[in-house]
Parts: sequence; structure tokens; C-alpha cells
Amino acid sequence: MSDARKNLVYEKKTVYEKAGEKIVAKAYEYAKGYVNFLDAAKTEREAVCEGVKLAEAAGYRPYTFGDPIKAGDKLYYNNRGKNIFLFRIGTEDINNGIRITAAHIDSPRLDLKQVPLYEDNGMCFLKTHYYGGIRKYQWLAMPLALHGVVVKQDGEVLDVVIGERDEDPVMYITDLLPHLAAAYNEKPLGKAVTGEQLNILVGSRPLADEDKDAVKLGVLQYLYDTYGITEEDFLSAELSIVPAGKARDVGFDRSMISGYGHDDRVCAYPSITAMIDADEKVHTTMCLLVDKEETGSDGVTGMQSSLITDLITEIAKALGGNEATVRANSKCLSSDVTAIYDPTFPDVYEYRNSALLGCGVGMCKFTGSRGKGGTSDASAELVAWVRRCLNEAGVVWQTCELGKIDVGGGGTVAKFMANHNIDTVDLGVGVLSMHAPYELISKVDLYESYRAFKAFYAF
Ligand code: MN
Ligand code: MN
Repeated sequence: MSDARKNLVYEKKTVYEKAGEKIVAKAYEYAKGYVNFLDAAKTEREAVCEGVKLAEAAGYRPYTFGDPIKAGDKLYYNNRGKNIFLFRIGTEDINNGIRITAAHIDSPRLDLKQVPLYEDNGMCFLKTHYYGGIRKYQWLAMPLALHGVVVKQDGEVLDVVIGERDEDPVMYITDLLPHLAAAYNEKPLGKAVTGEQLNILVGSRPLADEDKDAVKLGVLQYLYDTYGITEEDFLSAELSIVPAGKARDVGFDRSMISGYGHDDRVCAYPSITAMIDADEKVHTTMCLLVDKEETGSDGVTGMQSSLITDLITEIAKALGGNEATVRANSKCLSSDVTAIYDPTFPDVYEYRNSALLGCGVGMCKFTGSRGKGGTSDASAELVAWVRRCLNEAGVVWQTCELGKIDVGGGGTVAKFMANHNIDTVDLGVGVLSMHAPYELISKVDLYESYRAFKAFYAF
């Protein structure tokens, strides 16, 4: 190999080539903890519960606005059970800024409508309104589970998980048999199944001695006997339909994991575990696990909420800093997933600038679509800083763009952080079949993201 090829060319290499056996073995080991997290945390509420467990086990304690804050404190703020911010106060001047990572813990799914239950021809269904970007046809004819909460009028919160244990029943959306699907098969994929057809079959046995809506009454009777809830209680419920079952290793070499909601728990888990594992004592660090990214980051638990600036203001005040200075000097990794180049659908990707499976954590300088629309576009200075951080730590990473120009695109929470005058760039794990009920990731990419976040907190 010539020196020119060795020294002058940028080439993506896999973690297997660059990092070696020891790191790969560690990646496989680390993936076990991630799979457990994935199985336990299918909704943002469940992810917050898991996050609190991890945080408290590591000595973090709950923070309330106005509490005193001092160097060495390890704190977390649980926002309405749907998002959680961990922060650790360093010894250096708070005006030097905070190292922040921001991942989201909501994933595309089917939410129940507020009046979901109805009977049609002896079958009882639940109406849904899909949450986030889904390809609707992917959700038919597969085992589904119900997760969420019912909040009764008196404020009592009932946690519901049905369809995950072996002995549980599952939910189901019917599909058409091929024998009668000729006309439907002619429809474009995106129009073959509509949102109003994503109805969940939940019963077919009529309540005895009833002739009208007897199956629905049977379901209501079951719900009352089991949970003490009535049909009106659905009005104040947040119930979601997600794929039933556990994440699994994929491939003869077990190098990949399929599971529901890699986007974005595959970044949430490494950012929170890196935060907890980092021995960083100098910089103040923050790990944000937020909700509502898949629907635009709006609302009190989304990244557009004022909570992040409120917290930074509190921290700055408590430590004698200036909040504007703190934000101006902070750096954020928006830790969200990117698309992995899929050789089965090569026409939508631009190979040179796509994330490649197994080539490490992916950095997207910009997201958005159609002429970089809707991106915060990280500065070259910030990219250089992160580049040095990752390279010095020996992290295997790659640069990437979501797909071909004008084919589509997507956003992350990066721009909402950047809008607060916080330098932000996207860094996360690449995913195949993104937003499908079962997505796919590489174990070594997952582990490189953990190593990247750990390096970033301490750099
Ligand atoms: Mn995402
Ligand atoms: Mn997404």
C-alpha cells in the first residue's frame, strides 16, 4: 500500500477491522444489558422507570427546582414520568458550559383513541391513531401488545402491560387473504392500508343473555373485573399498541439485534450508561432522555419545552454562573439514530455519504430534507472538536447523511437544542428498517456509541 493511500484517503472501516477482538467481545457483552433495557422499556414511561432505576443504583437522587446544587452532585429530574434529565455537577467553573447528550425514548406505535372500543359483526375492536411515522402495512397480522396507563378520575394510575408474558393474550390487526387481494394489490403500498383500518381485534365471545353489542360488553366486563375500569376511563388513558415479544440476536454470528424501538433507545441506553459510568469530575454533564421526538418534540415532555433552559438556568444560578454564558459554552450531542445503507434498496441511498453497518457510531453534520430544510447544520468547528474527541479516544465513527438528496429526510432534536444557543451535532447508531415494528442494529455500532458518549462527557 502506498503512503498516499495510507495517509491521504478517508476510508470507512469496520469496528472489526479497526478496534479488534477485545472491543468486539466487549460489544457483545454490553449488548446484553441493552437488550434487557429494550424489553423493559417499550414506551417513554417505561423507559423513564428504567432510567430512574439505573440512575438511583448509581447514586443519583431526585432534584426539585430550588434545591441547592454543588460540585459532585449527581441528580436527576423526572418530568411527569415521561422524560428524565440526569445531571452531574463538575468542579470547573459552570460558565465553561455543560456537556449534554440528548436522546429520545418515544418510538413509533399505535395509540388508542379516547373512545376506542366498538363491536362489528361479532368482533370487538379498538380504534387507534398512529404515533410517529409508520409504514402502516407493516403492522398487520402480527402479535401486538398493549402498554400504558389508565388514570382514573380520582387520580389513581393503573399501569397496563398485556401481551408480553408467555401466558398473556396478544392483540392483532387482520389482513386480507391473497385469494381476495387482487384489487388491493394494485394499490400503491402507502395507500393500501389506511389509518382508520389499523383496528385492534380484542374479543369475539359474547356476554351471555345480551343481544346487542354482546362481545363489546364481554370485553368491558373483563376490563372491569380485571382492572376496575369502565368505558369512560379510556377518556383519561394513554394506551399504546406495540409489537409483542422480545428483542433477539440476529445472524449466525449474533452480530446484530432486532427489536422494537431501537429508534431511539439504541442511543438512550448508551448515553445514560455512559453518563453513569464516566468518572468525569471536572465538567458538568447532562443526559437528556426526552419524549415526543417522533411527533415533532412539542409539549411539556418534548425537547421544545422550556425545561432544558429552566434547568440550565437553575444550575447556573446555584453555582454563581450566568445562564446565557453557560449555554453559549455548552456542547450537545443529539444522540439519535441514522439510516444504515441497505443494499436491498440501494436507489434511495448515496453510498459514499451513508452510514454503513458495523462501521461505528454515525455523525450527521446536518439532517433535514430538500436543500437542508429544517436543519441546525453543526459548524465545522464543532465537528472538528468532536472529531478530535472521538479519534483521541480511539472510537470507531463515521460521517453520514440520511439518504439521497430530495428522496426524503428527517429531523432530530438537534435543532431545538441549537436554537437555545447550544452547539449541537447529531451522533448516533445506524438502524436498518427504521420505524418498522422490528428494527435492526449492529452490536459493535451500539458499543461505539457508548464509547463515544463516554469520551465526550470527559473531553
Ligand atoms: Mn429518532
Ligand atoms: Mn424516528
